[in-house]
Amino acid sequence: MTTPRILVLGTGGTIAGAGTGATGAAYRPGGLALGTLVEHLSALGLAAELVPQEIARIGSQDIGWAEWQALHAACTTALADPAIDGIIITHGTDTAEETGFLLDLTLPTHKPIVMVGAMRAADAVGADGMRNFANAVKVASDPQAAGRGVMLVMGDAVLAARDARKAATSSIDAFRTFPRGPLARVTPATLDWFGPPHRTGELARYAFPPELPRVAILTAGAGMDEKPVEALLGIGARGIVLAGMGQGNAPRVVIEALARAAASGVPVVRSTRVDEGLVDRNVEVDDDVLGLVAARAFGPARARMLLIVLIANGITEAAAVQAAFDGV
Ligand code: GLU
Repeated sequence: MTTPRILVLGTGGTIAGAGTGATGAAYRPGGLALGTLVEHLSALGLAAELVPQEIARIGSQDIGWAEWQALHAACTTALADPAIDGIIITHGTDTAEETGFLLDLTLPTHKPIVMVGAMRAADAVGADGMRNFANAVKVASDPQAAGRGVMLVMGDAVLAARDARKAATSSIDAFRTFPRGPLARVTPATLDWFGPPHRTGELARYAFPPELPRVAILTAGAGMDEKPVEALLGIGARGIVLAGMGQGNAPRVVIEALARAAASGVPVVRSTRVDEGLVDRNVEVDDDVLGLVAARAFGPARARMLLIVLIANGITEAAAVQAAFDGV
């Protein structure tokens, strides 16, 4: 078998973080150049040729359209290049779910695309980045990894970007996946898929957004009124995601204001501030009457990314937005 050739797109994050040494807490995400990181990785004797390309060296809280556009363009080029077998994106964990889902929605599935991060800086004792990266190489080199959409490799698990979220601020096992479980378990030596590829031959579902429409997340709190909804409309929000209580609930005056927003052509998606679970239609809120959309399994961050992509693709009518949330 020929050695797989893997494009490594660097964006920064803790996996490339350098700080105050092995026992300090402070560090700078992206402090380490991608070339240095890849040099360290190559020294591990991984069975792959790594081709580094630096996109950014930032903490992922600062990522935005320009970096996403550069990532999308680099992935598109590599997907068309017969000399590249798979793609790894090193990324901060704070927004890995947003970048991963955006690329999942806007790229075809015929080669493995693997996001990877770390919870401990590269120079911290017990750093997890090298192991996560070695795992990512194992996944990106495996022909069985194609046809599954964008994946996230963390903590010896392979998660579908569509289902993954960050659920812990500092433990190395920081990601959860819902409603589906992990796609595989992985170590640097082993890879066990739990099922066959389920998205073989899929083309990009949506066009990459030519700009980022302003879509806001509004978190519900007990006793709040409708003013925050009005403020969002006042600054030109083109879509609103409610991080509601329980099954996407909010005080009656807030729901009424959101219904007025929907009636004025601003799509509104009801998600939940609860860590995990479905938000279904017409449970306590009459979505049919009020023109609202239920986020189903998507938490606020991924619901916002999907709504951004839909609005950018001209899909704003409630039934069509709901169909997308049901179908992705
Ligand atoms: N906030 C930084 C980021 O997301 C560090 C967190 C991390 O990578 O785990 O890039």
